[in-house]
Amino acid sequence: TRTQDEEDLPHATKKTMADHLRKYESLFTLTPQRMRMIVDAFKDTLEAGLEKHGNTVPMIPTYVFGWPTGNETGEYLAVDLGGTNLRVCLVTLQGAGKFEITQSKYRLTEEQKQEDGQKLFDFCAECLKTFIDQHVGEEPGMINLKPGAKLPLGFTFSYPCSQDRIDHGELIRWTKGFGNPNTEGHDVAEMFRKSLQKYDVPADFISLTCDTTGTLIASHYVNPKTKIGCIFGTGCNAAYMEKVVDIPKIKHLGIAQDAEVAINCEYGAFDSFEHEHLPRTKYDQVVDETSNKPGEQAYEKLISGRYLGEIMRLVICELIDEGVLFLGQETYKLEKAYAFDTAFLSLMESDPTDELLMIIGIFTHFFAVETTLAERQFFRALAKLIGRRAARLSACGIAAIVSKMGYLEEGCSVGADGSLYNKYPGFADRIHEGLVDVFGDKGRNIVTYHAEDGSGVGSAVIAAMTKDRKEKGLY
Ligand code: BGC
Ligand code: MG
Repeated sequence: TRTQDEEDLPHATKKTMADHLRKYESLFTLTPQRMRMIVDAFKDTLEAGLEKHGNTVPMIPTYVFGWPTGNETGEYLAVDLGGTNLRVCLVTLQGAGKFEITQSKYRLTEEQKQEDGQKLFDFCAECLKTFIDQHVGEEPGMINLKPGAKLPLGFTFSYPCSQDRIDHGELIRWTKGFGNPNTEGHDVAEMFRKSLQKYDVPADFISLTCDTTGTLIASHYVNPKTKIGCIFGTGCNAAYMEKVVDIPKIKHLGIAQDAEVAINCEYGAFDSFEHEHLPRTKYDQVVDETSNKPGEQAYEKLISGRYLGEIMRLVICELIDEGVLFLGQETYKLEKAYAFDTAFLSLMESDPTDELLMIIGIFTHFFAVETTLAERQFFRALAKLIGRRAARLSACGIAAIVSKMGYLEEGCSVGADGSLYNKYPGFADRIHEGLVDVFGDKGRNIVTYHAEDGSGVGSAVIAAMTKDRKEKGLY
């Protein structure tokens, strides 16, 4: 790798890279004042979503009523269809907030995200069937299944679904790049049940939940101070608990007014279509326009793991076009949409070497281009701008719920999960900084922590809560 003789290369000098950086700094930096404006608008949007059905941010009542006791017990299957993987789990809830989990994970291909919806659910059922066959047995951690018996199943389906019961959910729209036909507008619980029957899977479908609701419940199962569950992963979203009396759109259904129900905000959709409130750069606009769902998930597209790498790639491509970067080198590998993984941003930010050797590695190994030190410093700084903006915007969503619910004074814990939250260096710290920028010192009362596995454990706890309610004859 050429690092010694930079003067001889037709690359940009340190000075010009620093000049370019200044431009991106002003584009991607979010002032505290701007954040507070976003939070205000966000809060209004959340409130509007509770008023009536069909809003852009749908604020979905999940039919998960109240908090778990922590004493839920039993064996449950959990299937988790997330944005990147399919996971099938056996969860043993032991009570007192304790559990054991056995699981298998399958990576979803891009094709599977576009094929007919029923085929996708067939794949889920098949994987579950294989998992059960492999794990039936007498030993601990094995599935203890008598012939003809079925295990209760919680299905975590992390896309917006409108629900009027917990074992039902109509897909409002695909997100995170999924586009499987014949699924939007359909009851996905019904579709999955059909697949379970087709493959003769010994599972009893109990509940359909979103990863955020699962995260909220699982986190509360182990840490009762938790009031909000969030995901910052391939997509982004949050859930929290609301009183029925404060949800105008379901108030009349005859549910006890003082009952609490978890709300799946689906706030990745904030500012969709109108684009009034969020600071979108031209790169964000290209990401949006070239996505399979232009206009939708506007907030998510600035924040989540599916898109950050692509935003960075678009900036790099602009500088290639302007003749600033990689002059005279073959850059076609970088010119392919979504070629630049969000994990590269994490790696760049965490490169501990002076020469930025990891960044050299990324560009030579994946894109076959050589970089100068000045360029690598620029890339690292750019990753930081994009990652920091994502975290600060993430803080705005949390702050909107906190401010709507009045959690600031007494403080609250926020269970958070997802690849960005867990793997991106400094993501949580930047969220906390952002909360202080929004709320001042009191922002320190809001503390995020790495949540329990919502889509596995949370889903199982929800299935347990649902079974219990059913046995008591409750709604
Ligand atoms: C989905 C949500 C989900 C979030 C995180 C979003 O794209 O609409 O249902 O909670 O991603 O996985
Ligand atoms: Mg997930």
